[in-house]
Amino acid sequence: MLKIENPATEEIIRELEEDTPASIDDKLRRAKAAQHEWAARPVEGRLAAIRHFRDRVVQHAEELARTTTSEVGKPISQSRNELRGLAFRTDFFLEHAAAVLQEERVLWAPDQGLEERIAHEPLGVVVNVSAWNYPYFVGSNVFLPALLAGNSVLYKPSEHATLTGLAIAEHLHAAGIPEDVFITVLGGGAVGADLVKRPVGGVFFTGSYSTGKKIAAVAAPNMAKLQLELGGKDPVYVGDDVDVRAAAEATADGAFYNTGQSCCSVERIYVQEKIHDAFVEAFVETVKGFVIGDPMDEKTYIGPLTRKAQIAVLEDQVADARAKGGQVVVGGSRMSRKGHYFEPTVIVGTNHDMKVMIDESFGPIIGIQSVSGDEQALGLMNDTEYGLTAGVYLKDRRRAEHILRGVHAGSAYWNCCDRVSPRLPWAGRGHSGVGSTLSKSGILAFTQPKAWHLRKA
Ligand code: NAD
Repeated sequence: MLKIENPATEEIIRELEEDTPASIDDKLRRAKAAQHEWAARPVEGRLAAIRHFRDRVVQHAEELARTTTSEVGKPISQSRNELRGLAFRTDFFLEHAAAVLQEERVLWAPDQGLEERIAHEPLGVVVNVSAWNYPYFVGSNVFLPALLAGNSVLYKPSEHATLTGLAIAEHLHAAGIPEDVFITVLGGGAVGADLVKRPVGGVFFTGSYSTGKKIAAVAAPNMAKLQLELGGKDPVYVGDDVDVRAAAEATADGAFYNTGQSCCSVERIYVQEKIHDAFVEAFVETVKGFVIGDPMDEKTYIGPLTRKAQIAVLEDQVADARAKGGQVVVGGSRMSRKGHYFEPTVIVGTNHDMKVMIDESFGPIIGIQSVSGDEQALGLMNDTEYGLTAGVYLKDRRRAEHILRGVHAGSAYWNCCDRVSPRLPWAGRGHSGVGSTLSKSGILAFTQPKAWHLRKA
């Protein structure tokens, strides 16, 4: 039985049957059988269904936001933001899918009667094993373009966002996506492990590096297309020419939004030594102003952690930093209240011997390190196996771009952070993953090219 817990109250709010190997067999059979007819529909038909889904999401946004907040613990205003973002993201796919998926004629030589064309065929059945932290975003990055490209989808929401996954399925079906073209698979890690070993057209995973590594090993022998969107240890460098208060407020939001549980959360900050103390002062003041509380409360900015187990990870990072000379200037402990709450925590005097500067924290905790200048900052930013995003706060654009050209990361931010755009590819390097979603390449990702060589007899 899958028990759905409210992380703010620790109450079990639903119990659901998990999928079994036999039910997964059946779902896979149905998804395979339904895919051909779905792919044969003109793209306009598929677009109409997704447009209808978008309208339903807008119409039911409040109820959907509450469902997510009840099981993920995401502050309600942030769940609403995610749903608003989902509508914009859907608009991007609606606007571009037809043109991207169109066949291209790349050669037409009438004198030789020769034509060459590229067709973008669907992968078939796409398996999507998803994360809980932005269930609408990370799910829709996969299922929207996958469906538009003519695939059927077996979607396993995270065990911490199951009700959200079921709500997504309900609205997709009501919008006209056939029930066997989008099928949810429910359960935890064992169900995910069973699903990803199946012979399908593509396996798309969002989650941690440790799980991604296991999935890569299991899925590889099937030669399914594999994309992995994994974790990060995203750095920000704050240089000496900035408006210190503005940079402190922006990076504190980047570090603590969604209670620090974003793949692109700011996870470590390097500050030029001349402005270090002023930056820390403004940063701490900002963090002290964050409202911690019931995630259903409009005013709450910091809610509970979704997963109880992460509290021990954060406690270990704090203890490790303290033992190595770091100073905890605010927070540092779990909170003595019901729910998985951890105080927003700022640690200064950090270095790369400390876990808080090396391992993904995925919670409301940040390490700040003083650096001598741009060169040292770049060296430290790249001192990681991860490579999801990296940001630089500097007035001087040339200086910032020089640093950002050197960072090993899929997204580069100048005077911004913790940002995703549907127009740009979302891609990790190193342990942050392989492949990319979003942008036009994130539509083509759900297709396989067919090369047509056509000669008139
Ligand atoms: P997780 O790896 O614990 O779980 C992700 C999914 O994998 C869940 O659905 C889970 O049930 C399933 N799973 C667990 N073990 C499995 C196995 N052996 N085989 C197949 N499936 C298995 O990650 P999480 O806690 O859900 O998410 C947090 C992580 O996800 C963080 O590292 C975060 O940075 C990352 N993330 C990355 C992105 C991105 O776009 N790069 C976005 C969101 C989250």
